Amino acid sequence: MRKIHRPRLAVWKFASCDGCQLSLLDCEDELLDIASALEIVNFPEASSDVRPGPYDLSLVEGSITTEHDAQRIRQVRRQSRHLVTIGACATAGGIQALRNFSDIDAMVGAVYAKPEYIKTLATSTPISAHVNVDYELRGCPINTRQLVEVISAFLAGRKPAIAAHSVCIECKHRAHVCVMVQGTPCLGPVTHAGCGALCPQFRRGCYGCYGPSETPNTAALAREWQALGAAPRTIAHAFRSFNAAAEPFKSEADAHGD
Ligand code: SF4
Ligand code: SF4
Ligand code: SF4
Repeated sequence: MRKIHRPRLAVWKFASCDGCQLSLLDCEDELLDIASALEIVNFPEASSDVRPGPYDLSLVEGSITTEHDAQRIRQVRRQSRHLVTIGACATAGGIQALRNFSDIDAMVGAVYAKPEYIKTLATSTPISAHVNVDYELRGCPINTRQLVEVISAFLAGRKPAIAAHSVCIECKHRAHVCVMVQGTPCLGPVTHAGCGALCPQFRRGCYGCYGPSETPNTAALAREWQALGAAPRTIAHAFRSFNAAAEPFKSEADAHGD
């Protein structure tokens, strides 16, 4: 009997908290279907049965913060037919990219008793700064529904059907009352959709964990925040969080100093 080839999936971790990998395990309803459609051959978070490449699809979590990882991601790329980055760490450098705006030696000296044993780069950078990436899935953590869509799309050989618009569109679809109208600053107008406008649902402003939406007008939003009474430092800090190194969040934070 002819053996049916199932695409081989690998899941990789770089500098990250593992939350995005856990999103794959959280796909409870779809996990069996995914496991039957794909051969999961390299997923150390879930199994010690790790098999060598090549791989049809690699999901990569985490940013590059060491020279060793800069070399490792190039090896991963060579073994992977398709490479998809998942989460703010992998797509924008993550919260650890705050180091990019500080003196790394001073930080390491403040944290570690013996800093001479620490080998780290001065920056945290997204995977796309090192290798070619086929698709970037945003979020901190990523949305499981979007993850299933991305995996399905790559299995079917089509483009993932994931909207690039802002959280505001999702917010309006769900008929939430706008928190900005009530005087609360919100990054929703410039933040990538995917969470279903989770924070405005609970009357909180979005703090941008999904990173920049397509063509965001961050300057206009900053002016609105100023009109609500936000100080330049507050605006700079708002743009400098989980996606601090992502343009144009970085540029807008720089424009307001710190
Ligand atoms: S993007 Fe967020 S949830 Fe995902 S690995 Fe990074 S810190 Fe964790
Ligand atoms: S609450 Fe935020 S996300 Fe919702 S419409 Fe207002 S600005 Fe946009
Ligand atoms: S509303 Fe903004 S901060 Fe809240 S989960 Fe969605 S993208 Fe993240």
